[in-house]
Amino acid sequence: MPNHKTVQDYIRTIVDFPHEGIMFRDVTTLFADPRGLRLAVDQMLHPYAGTRIDKVIGLEARGFILGGAIAHQLSVGFVPIRKKSKLPGATISEAYTLEYGEAVVEIHDDAIQAGEKILLVDDLLATGGTAEAGIKLVERLGGEIVGCAFVIDLPDLGGRARLEKMGMDVHALCA
Ligand code: IMP
Repeated sequence: MPNHKTVQDYIRTIVDFPHEGIMFRDVTTLFADPRGLRLAVDQMLHPYAGTRIDKVIGLEARGFILGGAIAHQLSVGFVPIRKKSKLPGATISEAYTLEYGEAVVEIHDDAIQAGEKILLVDDLLATGGTAEAGIKLVERLGGEIVGCAFVIDLPDLGGRARLEKMGMDVHALCA
């Protein structure tokens, strides 16, 4: 029988994780399925067919899994943006606001050459704070973001509008 499952069908929702009242969208079930992972990678790349991409940037942690697979598919390099103090070499940092407090993300300061075309990847877009900080890091190193690709967009949380206001091309596979 043909398999008509969509990317959304492979994602499960865990209630009250990591805190009561949170509906956590769990993409590990998408990643664990060979057809699901292939579907996600192919669909995330579809809008960028024919677009020059020199590097893929993934946001910690699930952006590493997707970003690595996408970079491999494109035969380009992959660069991680990590939480504070995880990268071993010289870094630049961006702080951003969370619901409670502040977070910091970092990138190696030699990871991108000026003028390189960058695809930014993560599993989920919520408020857009994490992605915005990642975009700022890439742009500070002279990279040019050609697109921001997500599996899930939660539009009610404003992330898409926030990134589009920065002039970003935003694509997500499901809401
Ligand atoms: P934002 O910065 O508010 O857009 O949150 C997006 C970041 O939080 C991404 O790096 C996501 O991986 C993570 N995140 C927030 N909510 C969820 C969820 O329900 N499932 C998986 N990741 C999430």
